[in-house]
Amino acid sequence: MIEAALAGTGGMMPLPNRFLSSMLARVNGSLILFDCGEGTQVTLKLLGWGFKEIDAVCFTHFHADHISGLPGLLLTIGNANREQPLTMYGPPGLAHIVKSLCCIAPDLPFPIDCVEWAARRENSIGLADDLTLSAFPVDHGPPCFAYSLNLKRRGKFDPERAKAANVPLKIWSALQKQNDADIVYNNERFTSDMVLGPARKGLKLVFCTDTRPVSSLAGFADGADLLVCEGLYGDEEKWEKAASHMHMTFREAAEIAREAGAGELWLTHFSPAMPNPQDYAEAARAVFPRAVVGRDRMHKTLKFEE
Ligand SMILES: [Zn+2]
Ligand SMILES: [Zn+2]
Repeated sequence: MIEAALAGTGGMMPLPNRFLSSMLARVNGSLILFDCGEGTQVTLKLLGWGFKEIDAVCFTHFHADHISGLPGLLLTIGNANREQPLTMYGPPGLAHIVKSLCCIAPDLPFPIDCVEWAARRENSIGLADDLTLSAFPVDHGPPCFAYSLNLKRRGKFDPERAKAANVPLKIWSALQKQNDADIVYNNERFTSDMVLGPARKGLKLVFCTDTRPVSSLAGFADGADLLVCEGLYGDEEKWEKAASHMHMTFREAAEIAREAGAGELWLTHFSPAMPNPQDYAEAARAVFPRAVVGRDRMHKTLKFEE
């Protein structure tokens, strides 16, 4: 399963009751944070999923509302006595920016690795045997990436298949548990696909902010169980303003969710000039009925189909 939480739902500046847009995902006991603006560590504290297990921080882009909370967060993770490396992912220039921010967070007890995505193309990296992180270039002015987390689900154990492939009974269970690994038994090599049926539908979580709608974005978000997408304004009359600032309206985000066939859409990154984003829920639902106007610390568990 993948657990997803909106740490914050604001754009540009944190408000007393709305932290800056950020998402935390928990998969296989590890936490992955997407963006970290000013105050993100406060809302993470309120959420209560912990700091020490944050293994990765993924940045969409380097506007301050998405990264300026990093030094404080790193100090807090350091105070939790983390010693394992922490990996940051982001657009080109990430290593330089992280190094600069770390001037005010020196002597951390854990090493930091930076992975910079290649510009203007989709990038993917395996975080675990069954978990892939992908980054997709979007259109916001400065280099900016949308993210997806894909959790694979292996096939069902199939004893008939195991028998047909003459897999010794003794190693059935080991092959069933092991991901893509070979087992050598009596000088013969056996693989998990000899005991498993076809792979089943996995889980997909997509995080997309800040951007104008780009035509290929729906393809990147295709079939997402949950699409978290920016909507700077709910009021369609603000469309021109959203477009000139390289952002989207609720309607535009809902159109992407519809085209992608997403399971659910959560809107986020609201303008501070929009005190009650919920007032515009209908603007999104008219296009995509499973649209939800995000709230800080709203969370959900994505589960494999029965
Ligand atoms: Zn922003
Ligand atoms: Zn931005």
